[in-house]
Formats: sequence, C-alpha cells, structure tokens
Amino acid sequence: MNPQECLFCKIIRNEIPSKKVYEDSDVVAFLDINPASRGHTLVVPKKHSQDIFEIDDITLGKTISVVKKIAKTLKEKFGAEGVNIIQNNGHAAGQIVAHFHVHVIPRYKEDGIIFHFPRIQSSSQQLDEIQKLFKEEKKHDDFEFRF
Ligand code: AMP
Ligand code: ZN
Repeated sequence: MNPQECLFCKIIRNEIPSKKVYEDSDVVAFLDINPASRGHTLVVPKKHSQDIFEIDDITLGKTISVVKKIAKTLKEKFGAEGVNIIQNNGHAAGQIVAHFHVHVIPRYKEDGIIFHFPRIQSSSQQLDEIQKLFKEEKKHDDFEFRF
C-alpha cells in the first residue's frame, strides 16, 4: 500500500479530520469513528507498515507504550472497569485498514458486554502436535523459543 493512498497516513498528515487524543513524534491516537464502546481509541504508529509482520520492533515498542498510556487514561479518567486490546492482521482476522493499529476498547460494567474469543475443541493430543511445530521452530536460530 502506497502511504499516499493510505487512510491512516492521511489522518496522520491531517489531510482527513480525526479526533486525536494523543500525539508524539512517532505515534498518534484518535477516536474510532465507529466505536465499540465509549472511548474506543486507535493507537497508530506514524511510520507506515501494514501489519505485525511488517512493523519493526522499535516502532512496535513505542506504539505499545502509548497503548498502555491510553488504557490507563480510560481506566482512571473514564471509569472503565476493563480494557480490551485488540490488533487485527489480515483480512481473515478482520483487518480493514492496512496500516498497523491497535484498538484500545474500554469496558464498563453497565454495558454488560464481555468480549469473548470464539473457541474450538482441541484434544490434548492435538495440543501436543501444535507444541511440536513450535519445537521445530527452535531449529531456526534467528529466534529462540525457550520451554
Ligand atoms: P480494523 O478492522 O482493525 O482494520 O479496524 C479499522 C478501524 O478503523 C475500524 O474500527 C473503523 O471503525 C476505524 N476507522 C475507519 N475509518 C476511520 C476514520 N476515518 N477515523 C477513525 N476511525 C476510522
Ligand atoms: Zn499508512
């Protein structure tokens, strides 16, 4: 995706209006236009990358620090009793905007909404097979799984 065409890059450059709630040299946060709850905020690195597979670790770290700040504000100032942090990658995971972003969604008791993941049945044997695949990954030495 060309950053010239990207919706969130346009928001970052102030070419499209948004309700910004935080900005520093690397990261912005603005209110989701179609919120899942009162205060639903998107935290977005200024540097364009599509998803978790593309973003560099330094930018990811800076973005997550801002996620923590926003979550803290939603808890302390908005009275959220819980906060969901959701980050979608790829069409199959529900990603619509192809610029890495993190949803910070406050939860309030009175809303009566508790977010649940869909669950699948999995036997102990199936879990063993999955664990084995991770163990094979240990052989690739650019990243070490320790267990
Ligand atoms: P995702 O499905 O993770 O790609 O989420 C994209 C999010 O961007 C959705 O929750 C949208 O409501 C939100 N969104 C789309 N356009 C805008 C916009 N112009 N300003 C703020 N949020 C937006
Ligand atoms: Zn972008």
